[in-house]
Amino acid sequence: MKIKTAIYPGSFDPITFGHLDIIRRAGKIFDRLIVSVFTHSAKKPMFTVEERVDMLRSALKGNKKVKIERFEGLLVDYLRKKKVNVVIRGLRAISDLEYEFQIAAINRTLYGGVETVFFMPRQRYTYLSSSVVRDIAHFGGDVSKLVPPYVIKKIKSR
Ligand code: ADP
Repeated sequence: MKIKTAIYPGSFDPITFGHLDIIRRAGKIFDRLIVSVFTHSAKKPMFTVEERVDMLRSALKGNKKVKIERFEGLLVDYLRKKKVNVVIRGLRAISDLEYEFQIAAINRTLYGGVETVFFMPRQRYTYLSSSVVRDIAHFGGDVSKLVPPYVIKKIKSR
């Protein structure tokens, strides 16, 4: 049987229970998942790429299907290099749709073979984003229902 690999790209600044929910769902369908941290030039990150990778490693420890990587540049170039043509993305609400639709369409224009597969998280994570976590953390609020314990430790140590 052919092994099917998908790439889940994102900022993961930091990883949240919403991302983990998507990874769990994608893991039911794909044999291997590469979770790839990339840096948006437009966004000023809270955590460095190394810290984000470190938090992902901790959150996904023991998950044999998942590999964590980092990349810079165009997603389609990275996909070609990895010989992977499936991209995983999460859809929280209709508000995500416009942005995700645009990215998926552009990626398909740049690389005809690429398919973007969307997963919906459980309802309680619909309003969860890394930026919400960063905002709450900035004011010293409680994020224990939103991110894994190791991320809380990292936030507290800042
Ligand atoms: P990006 O900067 O690419 O949006 P993110 O790390 O914010 O990176 O998100 C990566 C992907 O995970 C995106 O498709 C985003 O919609 C999805 N995502 C983020 N948070 C959640 C969540 N709570 N539930 C479902 N999907 C999510």
